[in-house]
Amino acid sequence: MTSGAAPGPTAVGARRESRQQERIRAKAPESHLRAGLKSATGLVLGAGAGQRAGMVLAVAGLALAVTVPATSAAGQPVGNQLDSAQVSQITAAPERELSFPRPAVTSSLDADGKLHKALTVSAGKVSPDAAKGTLQAPLDTLTSSSPFGTRINPLTGAAGEVHTGQDYAVACGTDVHAAAGGTVTFSAWHEYGGGNRIVVDHGNGLSTTYNHLSVLGAKVGQTLKRGDVLAQSGTTGASTGCHLHFEVMVDGTTVDPLGWL
Ligand SMILES: [Zn+2]
Repeated sequence: MTSGAAPGPTAVGARRESRQQERIRAKAPESHLRAGLKSATGLVLGAGAGQRAGMVLAVAGLALAVTVPATSAAGQPVGNQLDSAQVSQITAAPERELSFPRPAVTSSLDADGKLHKALTVSAGKVSPDAAKGTLQAPLDTLTSSSPFGTRINPLTGAAGEVHTGQDYAVACGTDVHAAAGGTVTFSAWHEYGGGNRIVVDHGNGLSTTYNHLSVLGAKVGQTLKRGDVLAQSGTTGASTGCHLHFEVMVDGTTVDPLGWL
């Protein structure tokens, strides 16, 4: 049930991935999950995607971590094009907004109840306040390595590239949990870079996806409860290192997962 890869310290993994990235860059321009997913789903995300770019996700006891925390004059994130698990340790400037996920002090029933209440209308009509906190973290430990949103390609300088999910650095073979109860609608190899991918439909237009998995632990049609282990993390597909690419989709469009966690 594991990938066989030896999970190592994050810093070691990051250095290894940096070398991998250099090799990949030397070989060919990346055909990347973002481009693939964009073409696959026809998504074009508009303004506002970068609003949360300044956020850093922190879990008690963990160092803050984001990818390449440089900020352009326009305040847009300058991120890494590669869908890697590269992590840079930073400290946040005092004026930066910090977002801390809510500790799991409520039971899963309470959380599902909140989600169901929020989803009495179509997911696309759920207000940000109502959405916040309705999904649970897909990993026991969240170490953000690349946020959702638009970014500037560090190689070409091209703007408007869209990262369709939130990346978390995590050792291969780590349990991945369902963010809420639902039904598995996809559990297979993803043609557009996601590698081994699982999609869970939570109803009313809300779904979550889990990508680059080493082990698919749930089948299409299977009903999952919130928190169920549905897979093991990995680095399959368009990925340069062990990490989880987690997506939240509302009516078929990817949105910032942090708005629902
Ligand atoms: Zn990603």
